[in-house]
Amino acid sequence: MSDNLSAQQLLRIRSKLETVVNEQPNTRQAESAAAALQRMREGEYGYCVECGDEISAARLAAKPDVALCVDCEALQDEEDA
Ligand SMILES: [Zn+2]
Repeated sequence: MSDNLSAQQLLRIRSKLETVVNEQPNTRQAESAAAALQRMREGEYGYCVECGDEISAARLAAKPDVALCVDCEALQDEEDA
């Protein structure tokens, strides 16, 4: 679990993710939020799924379902372009 996030922040983020899953079922957002909740259960939340780097608390707070660090996201954007 990321050291950057306090338990309270984590709780807030979890309830945000659960709200998305419950209120917007069958959307990409819900899918991504469910994946984030799954990572939380496995203790992997807050780490980039590509490189394993820690994702900053500010980034997680702004985008709770984010799965990639800034570097990996930039790489992915380049591939998509
Ligand atoms: Zn990464």
